[in-house]
Amino acid sequence: MLSLGICFLHRKTWSNLNWGWQIGIDLLHRRMPTIFEKICQGEIPARFVHQDDLCVCFHDVTPQAPIHLLLIPRKAIPRVEQANAEDQALLGHLLLTAGEIARQQGFADTGFRIVINNGADGGETVPHLHIHILAGRKLSWPPG
Ligand code: AMP
Repeated sequence: MLSLGICFLHRKTWSNLNWGWQIGIDLLHRRMPTIFEKICQGEIPARFVHQDDLCVCFHDVTPQAPIHLLLIPRKAIPRVEQANAEDQALLGHLLLTAGEIARQQGFADTGFRIVINNGADGGETVPHLHIHILAGRKLSWPPG
């Protein structure tokens, strides 16, 4: 009887510990929305050139070329290596959309550059996957 009681108590303590641990992990994963999530949700204004169910594209606020657009997925993927197999179609959609935007905005023929700054060394400042689309001038290579 005593051992049954101890066993019950032990299981209850363990399940409480597990529950607390799960909450801790959930809190760790909960993060502040990025500026790009706020743009997607319409909380911060942007000059949109394209919006669909999966992504949005808008003018960069600090343009580095005559045309500087940011194309971002609505899904908050922080960066490329945090995308997974489920995101395969979404990543393909982003590239196809970049081409479509280039045609629609009239710079497909003169050329453009697409850039993803990834992580600290890559120059990323907003942890929400985004494709820079730069056009309207001859861009140099290699990048700085
Ligand atoms: P990255 O440095 O690759 O992470 O790119 C972030 C880009 O977001 C920079 O080019 C910024 O100029 C741009 N940016 C930051 N805030 C805004 C905003 N509110 N609207 C448009 N572009 C923004």
